[in-house]
Amino acid sequence: MRTLRALWTNLRDSGLEPGSVPPVALERIRVVNTATLSIIGIGVLAVLQYAWMGLVAMVLVVAGAQLLGVLNVVVLRQTRDPALAGHAATTLLFVVLLASNVVSGGFYDPNFGWFYVLPLLGAVLNGSRGGWLWTLVVLGTTLGFWGARELGLGPVDRVPAEQHAVQSLFNRLSAVGAVAAVAAAFVAANRRTQEELRRSAVSAQRKASEDGLTGLPNRAAFRQSLRRSLASARRRGAGVGLLFIDLDGFKRINDSLGHAVGDQLLREVAARFEAELRDSDLFAVSRLGGDEFTVLLDDVADASGSVRVAERLLAVLTLPMLLAGREIVVRASIGVAQYPADGEDATALLRAADHAMYHAKRQHRGWARWDAASMESADRTSLQLEGGLRRALQRNEMTVVYQPIVSAAGELTGFEALLRWASPELGPVAPDVFIPLAEETGLIVPIGQWVLEQSLALLRELPSGLRIAVNISPQQLQRPGFLERVSASIASAGVSPDELELEITQRAIVGEEGPAGRALSELAALGVSLALDDFGTGFSSLSYLRRFPIDRVKIDRSFVADIEGELDARGLASAVVALARELNLGVVAEGVETPGQRAFLTRLGCDELQGWLLGRPMPSAQALVLALEAQRKRGSRDNASMAVTKRSAINS
Ligand code: C2E
Ligand code: CA
Ligand code: CA
Repeated sequence: MRTLRALWTNLRDSGLEPGSVPPVALERIRVVNTATLSIIGIGVLAVLQYAWMGLVAMVLVVAGAQLLGVLNVVVLRQTRDPALAGHAATTLLFVVLLASNVVSGGFYDPNFGWFYVLPLLGAVLNGSRGGWLWTLVVLGTTLGFWGARELGLGPVDRVPAEQHAVQSLFNRLSAVGAVAAVAAAFVAANRRTQEELRRSAVSAQRKASEDGLTGLPNRAAFRQSLRRSLASARRRGAGVGLLFIDLDGFKRINDSLGHAVGDQLLREVAARFEAELRDSDLFAVSRLGGDEFTVLLDDVADASGSVRVAERLLAVLTLPMLLAGREIVVRASIGVAQYPADGEDATALLRAADHAMYHAKRQHRGWARWDAASMESADRTSLQLEGGLRRALQRNEMTVVYQPIVSAAGELTGFEALLRWASPELGPVAPDVFIPLAEETGLIVPIGQWVLEQSLALLRELPSGLRIAVNISPQQLQRPGFLERVSASIASAGVSPDELELEITQRAIVGEEGPAGRALSELAALGVSLALDDFGTGFSSLSYLRRFPIDRVKIDRSFVADIEGELDARGLASAVVALARELNLGVVAEGVETPGQRAFLTRLGCDELQGWLLGRPMPSAQALVLALEAQRKRGSRDNASMAVTKRSAINS
């Protein structure tokens, strides 16, 4: 019973999967097939039962079938491909009828001619041009036979009366043959129709669901597969992972290098993601638009599986891309969400992944897993933070502390200025938390300027030969007038420009050949030195290092942290230091916490060290004391050398 039903369904739908063609087309195919099959069935029964009635039935069968052929063509027209059915059906039918006629020795009854004509008329209606010709030929032959008999000419009724029973049998056989022919023609025509339909539907669907730039599924297609995946996961009790990927700093690359390069970059990113996930049918990348991508992970039981995929995708981006003759390393932030834990439906899951991405981005973390409790409270806090941050400067809640930088030999060479914020409502807030927020809101520009002024004020007091390094955010650098503001501040503080160092991140200078790049060059020309912060993390591109007047690099503390334990980390640290030395840059190692790290880094050839081992960040007064002490020590050791403070140098 079940196989019968399956057979019927298959016959009715011509073996097409629901969903593979537009529903309207499938509906029409069903109508055509059901009607054809039932009429053919009735016809066959009638032919077998009564010869004469069978004849009438055959006319109905064939005319009906041809009418259905017309419907078939209507369907085809809908799919913009009119050439079909008519020729095949008509020709087959005509050949069979003609053959049966020849075998039976001629027309038994000239009225029988209409039996031949009707299908051909149907074929004409079908839109088959050949049908006209066949109709004329058959009509002519029929009329010819009829006329000849009426006029008593020729051997018209060649069949003797006693053979009429045989004739009748032939008539029946030819009718059955016609049924078979019609059926065959229609099965063939239908199959072709459906193939065409399927092909055009698939290509239409593809066009509508493909992202023009990258060829990945677009937002609409993604939403559809997300819903489908969730429905199937719900049935099976399975898990689904969702990654929401957003490139970091894409807008800047797009703006500074042009849209053509931006497009090329997106294509390259898409290709890398696809290549990385090619081996799994369960993982599908889509592009939502802009620089946003998603990966749908079917059958991922828990979020750790999705996180592994996120890490793989981040890893494929670490290799620089060669775009418009430039090496560019693009980073991404990925939000990870898991069905059903993080969202029960498509909208909720997507929102969770998007939200997690946003947190990953804010924390420069690569990826982040959605975590409702902590992220929602983080959002609340960040609202609070933002409000507090706007008033922090006026309310004197910010201070600058200074962390010593020491030469390999252990002598103080300068300080890095680090911002501190003690909010009355929130307590002390770590820079890693509020600096990204200040960058997002643009507040970093006045705050950064304030840090610069504080640092210059301390610099005025410091003995000469010591420098202060001030962190500069990309936003500050890109704001017009940066060069003027910095040089005006230096001038009004009355310090020598070569005692000021600006620390910029590689993030800040990607794609910066514009005004910001020129500002850096001009500051360098004034004597201000430039340090590349967080060296070795992401965005590493040698061509950038050559293009900017950089004096030294700061080896990120992530490299330093593991050098006592992991062999890999030691190799990495040595490679990064070797690279910097190869480029003739000074090297400062950050985050030195242990004597072991210090020994290793000194052996590698780091020029300077910074970290808790050598000194914690301290208030300016304490920094000044430390500087004067260091100067005294140096003075007594150098014996003859005079203690010259900056101020007395200026005064003299
Ligand atoms: P950074 O520029 O990489 O600064 C070095 C960070 O490492 C500082 O964190 C410092 O306190 C910390 N550090 C120093 N020695 C050690 C050590 O031995 N071990 C460990 N674990 N950490 C050490 P801090 O002050 O929290 O600053 C974090 C980041 O905030 C800075 O990273 C910098 O990117 C940003 N920042 C701080 N002040 C400013 C500022 O005035 N302007 C801008 N634009 N960014 C700032
Ligand atoms: Ca720094
Ligand atoms: Ca750093």
